[in-house]
Amino acid sequence: MSLNETEPVTVGITVPSIAPQDLLDRVTAMADDLAAAGISVELDVIRTCRSCGCTDDRACFLGCTWVSETEDLCTSCAPASSTPASDHG
Ligand SMILES: [Zn+2]
Ligand SMILES: [Zn+2]
Repeated sequence: MSLNETEPVTVGITVPSIAPQDLLDRVTAMADDLAAAGISVELDVIRTCRSCGCTDDRACFLGCTWVSETEDLCTSCAPASSTPASDHG
């Protein structure tokens, strides 16, 4: 192991997609600081259910999927409103 060579260092930072904006701002600012110090940062936003906190890697106990492409809500937490359209309900 040689310490003479400066090898590029990459660190991965994962943040939940439901993280508050100020946290994202701080992480982004930190990534900029590290980049200035020669450390490249890979920001990884983990899609997280805003209700129960499950992710793609850690689904709910009975399994779940995302209710839509854009909404961070899983089928376990979605209100049971996906019934067929009818005039009276
Ligand atoms: Zn959920
Ligand atoms: Zn879930």
